[in-house]
Amino acid sequence: MKLTQWLEARLARTSPPWTVGEVRIYPGYLLTHWEDAPEDSRLRQLSGWEAFLDLVRFDAAGRFRPLRGAPGLRKGWRRGPLSIADLFTDLRVLYPGAMAILAAWETERLGPTPFSMTARRQTGIYEVTRQLPDEDLPALVEQICVRGCLRHPLWHLPAPQPDKQEGLTLLCPEACHYFLHRARARAAA
Ligand code: SF4
Repeated sequence: MKLTQWLEARLARTSPPWTVGEVRIYPGYLLTHWEDAPEDSRLRQLSGWEAFLDLVRFDAAGRFRPLRGAPGLRKGWRRGPLSIADLFTDLRVLYPGAMAILAAWETERLGPTPFSMTARRQTGIYEVTRQLPDEDLPALVEQICVRGCLRHPLWHLPAPQPDKQEGLTLLCPEACHYFLHRARARAAA
């Protein structure tokens, strides 16, 4: 099954609106920030691709957003109505890989990669992360992932299992480069 078909079927399983990270999808498929109402006439219609990329890349203060999963998406815009293919593309830009990961996780085709394995693969400036003591991981996950990211890390848990959740959770099966970058400073200290 194609991922667009999976997304369409996945949305149909639950009642709208559907929330993904900081966005909300309304029937038709209309996309807004979750704190905005789609009928609000003050919302800016974001039709162009450049304007959408700008929204995703920069926060309200014009700062680059290095971590797409971090909260801080600007409000005040609307996209759509969109085809399911365009909705999928928008979600892929907002939260890279998230729908594919969720589809694989829910059909038990994806296992998390333990941090030790990710660290062992690193070379160059991130090689030092191999030295990070196991006991330092929980605090780093709390600080970087739990407090600073909307994705739900799976890779630091002993044996996470797919649950029968209804929400479109942003899952994280492997420590990302942003995490490695921050962990590197701790490992090198
Ligand atoms: S490792 Fe942490 S910060 Fe990076 S994407 Fe996963 S949950 Fe977010």
